Amino acid sequence: MKKTVLSGIRPTGDLHLGNYFGALKNFVRMQDDYDCYFFIADYHSLTTHPTPDHLRFNTRRVLANYLAAGLDPKKCTLYIQSDVPQVTELYLFLNMNAYLGELERVTSFKDKVRLQPQNINAGLLTYPTLMAADILLHNADFVPVGKDQEQHLEMARTYAKRFNTLYKTTFFKEPQAFNFGENLVKIPGLDGNGKMGKSEGVSNAIFLGEASDSIRKKVMRAVTDSGPTSPNQEQPEVIKNLFQLLSVVSTPDTVAHFNEAYNNCTIRYGDLKKQLAEDMIAFTEPFRQRISDLLADEHALDTVAAEGAEKARASAQKTIDAVRSLIGF
Ligand code: AMP
Repeated sequence: MKKTVLSGIRPTGDLHLGNYFGALKNFVRMQDDYDCYFFIADYHSLTTHPTPDHLRFNTRRVLANYLAAGLDPKKCTLYIQSDVPQVTELYLFLNMNAYLGELERVTSFKDKVRLQPQNINAGLLTYPTLMAADILLHNADFVPVGKDQEQHLEMARTYAKRFNTLYKTTFFKEPQAFNFGENLVKIPGLDGNGKMGKSEGVSNAIFLGEASDSIRKKVMRAVTDSGPTSPNQEQPEVIKNLFQLLSVVSTPDTVAHFNEAYNNCTIRYGDLKKQLAEDMIAFTEPFRQRISDLLADEHALDTVAAEGAEKARASAQKTIDAVRSLIGF
């Protein structure tokens, strides 16, 4: 039997190249070998109180991005979290055995307390229990997680063990981190600071559905230095970042050409950026086209969501039935 893998993403709108190379590209490969559940975590997003229009718009955009990137609803279970309300029941059960102290010690919660003291709600505090419910709902074996999510996965294991101990059962598996090994890449942003990400500012990220002109503008504004002054000198971080971006969207010949120009001090960053922008545009073109086609066909997206919901609900209901019975309902 295939092992189960689960991954969720908040409905943040369009996905960027970091999401693609760091997650989606691997998910597309995994669909054949694992029983995959991919969902859009719209319940989770309520901690920041999106307007109904934003919630709907961003959820649909993520769904369109997922499909455009190659997730195939025939191979995987692709669903919207709120279409599977069974998760809220499991969340309630897990919350009965989630302790205030341990929830308050979660790093991401402490960060939120510091960054947004005006909105510390119970949903934020119990974010890890909802995440554990997402995972345990399908008894997932593996969850692909970044470093910042390892603590949440550890808590999912804690709640699985706690439930098993309390009800003298082995029902819940302890989910493990899925390791992409060599396929794990970190895509840098355009502002010279480490990571491409939406929270780092939209001008730092290139989105799969982004218009060509906007890509050109962002890339031409990318941070550089004043250029190499001696042959073969080591590249500073901002330049390494540009070369790394080049390496994911351009041909090896192009990368070699600019590397040589850097090493013999003839490089003109304007040329490198122009090439990078054009190669990013060419790379994202098929995504951009598919995303806009998918968003234009409301019925098709609704059908994908409805079929995904049906599959996810069937799996979820099995878990809920077993859990209710173990609890004594
Ligand atoms: P986020 O929406 O930022 O939580 O990202 C969702 C997932 O995309 C993360 O768990 C990572 O696997 C991946 N990801 C996001 N940004 C990057 C990046 N700059 N480089 C590589 N992977 C990334």
